[in-house]
Parts: sequence; structure tokens; C-alpha cells
Amino acid sequence: MQVPLVDLAAQYRSIQPEIDRAIQRILDRTAFILGDEVRDFEAAFAAYVDAEGAVGVSSGTAAIELSLRAIGLQPGDEVITTAHTFIATAEAISNAGGRPVFVDVEPDTFNLDPNRVEALVTDRTRVILPVHLYGHPADLTALMEIAQRRGLYLIEDAAQAVGAEIDGRRCGSIGHLACFSFYPGKNLGAYGDAGAVTSDDQELLDRIRRMRDHGRTTKYEHVEIGYAERIDALQAAVLAAKLPHLEAWTEARRAHARRYGELLQDLPVTPPVERDGVRHVYHLYVVRSSHRDALLEHLKANGVAAGIHYPIPLHRQPAYAGLGYEEMSLPETERAAAEVLSLPMYPELTEEQLQHICGGVRSFAA
Ligand SMILES: *Cc1c(COP(=O)(O)O)cnc(C)c1O
Repeated sequence: MQVPLVDLAAQYRSIQPEIDRAIQRILDRTAFILGDEVRDFEAAFAAYVDAEGAVGVSSGTAAIELSLRAIGLQPGDEVITTAHTFIATAEAISNAGGRPVFVDVEPDTFNLDPNRVEALVTDRTRVILPVHLYGHPADLTALMEIAQRRGLYLIEDAAQAVGAEIDGRRCGSIGHLACFSFYPGKNLGAYGDAGAVTSDDQELLDRIRRMRDHGRTTKYEHVEIGYAERIDALQAAVLAAKLPHLEAWTEARRAHARRYGELLQDLPVTPPVERDGVRHVYHLYVVRSSHRDALLEHLKANGVAAGIHYPIPLHRQPAYAGLGYEEMSLPETERAAAEVLSLPMYPELTEEQLQHICGGVRSFAA
């Protein structure tokens, strides 16, 4: 049996007529940039997230960079974030002119540790930028309290957390701004690159809406030097067709996580936690193992495609060499990078596949 890490073809087969119709509609209209399709998807997505508004952009990375520009980040401003994430989080900060200040993670959720944040706030700090890693919300209650008390913006990197909740509130509706990715493998995936920013602040949303489209206020008037970072109408149509299915897909992921928990009981891997009051959306199902690399190889030999998210912390990436991060030590981040293993996770996983995967973990342990 072969089990991929994600199976986008299985999902397409399950909703093929709806997707094909959406794509055909765009071809018939030949309206490819912004317009009704984008507006309709933005409204539906804002309603899903329970935010006042959403702006579709070209990727999750663009969502973060435009959010930072919209709040007026200045060269050298500091943004407190995590080094245990996809590089896009820090890359967007750097490209917006800011300096990522990496804080260590909590060992159970792998999210930015709020207890370590305040010691890093300086007079250059403008933003706290937590990532809801793997689909488990960061501790926004604690982080928003710090942000408000210290006069900072809180921008959520919700790329992996569409539909996740804290005490019944959706990720994307809590921070000043929130950034989503619709990269194909994400829980709500486009058929190409796409992303969105959500917020309750109409002024910030208007600024981002203008910036994504050449700083334009009317067809011919450009009030600032902007960007070409719009979402495609084609992607908006695909996403609008998929959005009504997202809750069912998320519940399927959560059911698979519960089944994993049963099947992995008594085996020498640490399953993910789900804190009280939290809805984890399991973008990834990540366990810890002190023999991670050998386990990965064993699973591969048994037809199971596991993955590592992420093996090199950002303060150890060559891209960040020479920028003063060499001396820095983030013990929990470094331990996580050495121990995390992502087991296959997607809504269409079957009981047979789950048993096969966990059988592989069992035979490795033996
Ligand atoms: C995927 C991802 C991004 C970037 O999204 P893109 O759409 O690929 O640009 C940013 N942050 C995190 C945590 C991600 O997982």
C-alpha cells in the first residue's frame, strides 16, 4: 500500500463537476482579474472567518508582506515571530524592511511562547507575528494582551489554520490582521498560488486592497506606489466552489487525528496536543520521535510518505547567515526541528491507510 503525505487528486475527484463548472464559468466570462468572482469569494471567506472583511492576494507570503506594509512598517522595525515555521513568515518581514526577532516555541504546541515575548520588546518593536502552526492556534489571548499593553500590532500567520478556533472564535478574527494561504496543499487549497488578508479594520483592508493593485483608487489614478499582488479570478472561483466543503473536510481531518491517537497509543511517539478550548484543524499531523530520521526512512520503505516541517530552524538557514542570528540559541525550536515528523493527513484518508501508517510506526518500534 502507498500512502502519500497529501492527496489532492482524491479531493478533485470528489468535487470534479463543481470545480469544472467554476473554471468553465471564468473561461466563458473571460474576466480574469478581480471583478465579481473575487468580490464574492472575499465576502464568503470573511463570513467564514467571522471577520469584517477579506482581501484576496496572490499568495500567503504576499498577504504577510502587504499586511506589514499596510501598518506602516519602517526599515529596521522589529517583528517578534517564531523560527519554527515555513520561511515565508520571516521572508515577508525581511522583504517589508523589518527585522525578524525570533522567540522560542512552546514544546507541546510548537507555537510562539507568549511567556518569552515581553523580554524581547524594544522601542523598535512594532508587531507580534505568531504562526498557528500545523493548524493549532497560537495563544492569542496572552499575545493580544501583550500587544495591546505595549502598543503593538498583532498579525496572525493563519496560513495553516483556516477554521481553527480559540474559545469559539475563529483564527483570522482575533488579531489586527490575519494572513491566509491557499497554496494547493493547504486546508483550503487553490489550483495555483493565492492568499488572503482578513481584518475588522476597514482602513487597513482598503489600504491592502489598493496596494495589491498598483496603488490604484480608480482605473487611472494611483495614490501610492503599489504592487501586482492580486488573487486570480480563476483561483477565487475554485476557492468559492471549495469553501462550502471546508467544514466537512476539517471534521474529517479531526476524526483522522482522533483515530491516529488511538492507533498510536503505547507507541514511542508523542502525538500532537489540542489545548482546552481550542479547535485544531490538523493541516499537518505532527508527532515527535527521538529517532525521527530512522522512523522516516522505515515508513518510506513501507510506502508511507511522511515529511518534516521543518528540519532547519530559520535562525540556522543560510538565507539568514551574517545577520546576527548565529549566536542565538532557541533550545525548544532546535529540539523540535530534530524530532518532528508529519504523518500523512488529508480528509480522504481511509481507515486501511491509517492502520497501514500506524502499523509502520509499530513495526519500527519493535
Ligand atoms: C504556506 C505558508 C505560508 C506562505 O504561503 P504561500 O501561499 O505559499 O505564499 C506562510 N506561512 C506559513 C506558516 C505557511 O505554512
